[in-house]
This record gives sequence, C-alpha cells and structure tokens, in this order.
Amino acid sequence: MIKTQLSDPELLRYSRQILLPEWDMDAQLKLANARVLMIGAGGLGNPGAQILVRAGLGFLRLVDFDTIEESNLQRQFLFQSSDVGLLKVEVAIRELQKINPWTQLEAINLKVDLTSLPELLADIDLVLDGSDNFATRDLINQACVEANVPFLSAAAIGLEGQIAFFRPAQGCYRCLFGNGLNDDTRQCAESGVLASTTAVIASLQAHHALLYLGLDQVPLANRLLLWNGTTMQQRILKFAKDNNCPICKSSGG
Ligand SMILES: [Zn+2]
Repeated sequence: MIKTQLSDPELLRYSRQILLPEWDMDAQLKLANARVLMIGAGGLGNPGAQILVRAGLGFLRLVDFDTIEESNLQRQFLFQSSDVGLLKVEVAIRELQKINPWTQLEAINLKVDLTSLPELLADIDLVLDGSDNFATRDLINQACVEANVPFLSAAAIGLEGQIAFFRPAQGCYRCLFGNGLNDDTRQCAESGVLASTTAVIASLQAHHALLYLGLDQVPLANRLLLWNGTTMQQRILKFAKDNNCPICKSSGG
C-alpha cells in the first residue's frame, strides 16, 4: 500500500530532514515508499542499514548467512557482546525495529546465489551490496541486470574503500571491473580493516541511496568513487558501458 501521508510522530522524527531545502516532504514520502534489498549484514550493512532505517526507509530486506563473532564487534554497530553466536540478520532486524517502528523489516538467513536472487529482487527499487567478496558482487550484478534493478555497490578493506552506482541500461559492475574474479581476493578476515573505514564507506553508500530514493539524483552514475583513509583523498573515475559486456550488452541498448 502506497503511503500518501506521514503520522505526526513520523513528521516529528524526520523534521530535521523535511526542513532541508534539498529534501522536502515529497522526498520523505518517496523514502517511506521505497524498498531496498541489502546483501550483507556485516561491517557495511550494519551502519548502512541503520542510517537508512533512521532516515525513514519504508522497507528493508536484509540478507546474510553468518553468525556474529567476537571479531565482528569492533565495527558492526548493531551487535553487542551478548549477541555472539546468534544470526546476524536476526539480531540486526531486532535492533533496527527498535530504532524505527515504521520501517517494514525482513530478515533472510541465506547465502545468495543466482537461483535465490530473482525472488529477492522481485519487488525492490534499489540493491545495496555490503558483501565481502568480488564473486558475490559479480553474482548480484548479474541478477540486478537481469531484473533491471539499480545496484549500489560498496567495498571496504584496511583503510580504503570504494562505491559505484550501476543502472543496468548504462553499464554494470562487469563493464567496470571485467572478469577480474581473481584480481583482488583480499578479505577483512586476512587483511584487516579499521573500524572507521567500513563506517565511512557505508555512510557514503547510504547517503547515495538517500539521494537516489528520495530525490532521484545519481551523482555517481557511471562513476567509481575511491576513498583513501591514509591520505584522506577521494577520487572519482568515470566509466562507460562496455558494448561487449557478456552481462549487460543486451539490456537497454
Ligand atoms: Zn556490463
């Protein structure tokens, strides 16, 4: 059911956003009707989901297959010491629901693959990826192209991170990175990650999601943002659709 107005408590809660000249009642209502699929409830998913839910997202489907470990607590904001051993999605949804009773939340304990993704994507406006490896991002990309759903990808490791926004008709993750499945196999478990790195990148990803969902703005369309937490430099590189891309060449021309 499409929301056409917000209750008084909701208006009060989101008042600091509605006040903004860049973000009005119309944007807040669009966000209240938006449906997001987030894959990964780890270092990126924790802060990212929390920002979107606090901001007033209407529906969040959160997918992960992991349980909470002691080593997650350094950067995964929604989890406490007493949650170690429990399922990430269940604890995340429990905490997110306490934060915002108006967001509809769905927890799915699953390792995504090409069979499960179409159903997960069926009623979704935007996908946020917070998984921790190239192979999963490549699968999500394929499914998003197939379903014609925009894909906001993010990755963080060490003191570095990146985000990119893909609209299927204008190029995809594979156009940008090629079939580099073995290029960067670093993962936080082996290489380490600073607590602040995932929070910075997840915040940038959530920020871009809000621009897209509320305002229909896509400043990172066909761009890759690279953030270096050692030099504090940010670079934005442009990329074009690869007309020979095996994943998206037949979508949208
Ligand atoms: Zn492509």
